[in-house]
Amino acid sequence: MASKKIITVFGATGAQGGSVVGALLKDRSFAVRAVTRDASKPAAVKLKESGAEVVSADLDNEKSLEAALSGAYGAFIVTNFWDHFSKDKEVKQGKSIADLCKRLGLHHVIYSGLENVNKLTGGKLEVLHFDGKGVVEEYFHQISVPVTSVRLAFYYENFLTAGKPQKSKDGNSYDLVIPMCDVPMDGISVSDLGPVVVSILKNPKEYIGKNIGLSAEKLTVAQYADIMSKVSGKIIKDSKIPPEVYEKLPFQGAEEMANMFRFYMMVPDRDVPQTHKLNPNIKCFQRWLEENKEAFIKAL
Ligand code: NAP
Repeated sequence: MASKKIITVFGATGAQGGSVVGALLKDRSFAVRAVTRDASKPAAVKLKESGAEVVSADLDNEKSLEAALSGAYGAFIVTNFWDHFSKDKEVKQGKSIADLCKRLGLHHVIYSGLENVNKLTGGKLEVLHFDGKGVVEEYFHQISVPVTSVRLAFYYENFLTAGKPQKSKDGNSYDLVIPMCDVPMDGISVSDLGPVVVSILKNPKEYIGKNIGLSAEKLTVAQYADIMSKVSGKIIKDSKIPPEVYEKLPFQGAEEMANMFRFYMMVPDRDVPQTHKLNPNIKCFQRWLEENKEAFIKAL
């Protein structure tokens, strides 16, 4: 029996890559090579136990990347802006791995990209964690790597961490602090990415060369808050915060996030039907929240 084609998965110990490894292992069509900077960490050990080959590599160390990609048919690539908050660094990491994919002749690369907002808006708006990925996405196409870029919407999982509703001043209710001014915002559970990537890898002819905006559904902040109230039994309301106020909130990256929401208000192309076609079992927000109700209430 011919051995399975290898898919190298970056970010395998994280949210996106972890979902991709899980779906590839479940599907069993490909062999999985999971990348981490530290193969001894518990998340990496778990990946090994579940059947993935685990290799150590660092996006900042080209030699290690070459070993991780050698002999692979394809790769899933995600870079983590929030590790360093630098567009330049994200571009450097992305371009060097793109060059390597080209040189090693990978047959299909799935890149976790986003729009180059700065270019799209003629310099009017900068969203650094989008712009860098946009530059890299374009570079992949320019140097003719067989690539599909997946542009993920806002993760539902953000509502369990930095994006969780905040206790309001009266102490009896919660405010959902997202500056979208009644414009619907796309969302997706990052745990639903894996099956999307498997579908793309199994249909290369259909998807190579495309950038696909992924979204399970579009809801206004008031609709997100209503569903949160219904599922949790707490009172959760849209704070109606404008971006000009949001960007001054006291947390690192507030201005960057405000600019991201300004871009979301320009309604970037996130293709809900295409996303459901790629993962027919994708969760809408209410279903995701019902499945994560306990964690959500605990986070409040
Ligand atoms: P995550 O859960 O924090 O995981 C980050 C992963 O990146 C880890 O597996 C880590 O592996 C790996 N990593 C970081 N630096 C590395 C390096 N130098 N070399 C090799 N691996 C490295 O992150 P995630 O959510 O999967 O992905 C983050 C990206 O998603 C960000 O760039 C963000 O802009 C993008 N994104 C987020 C959203 C959202 O709503 N949150 C939506 C769309 C896009 P080890 O630590 O094991 O080495």
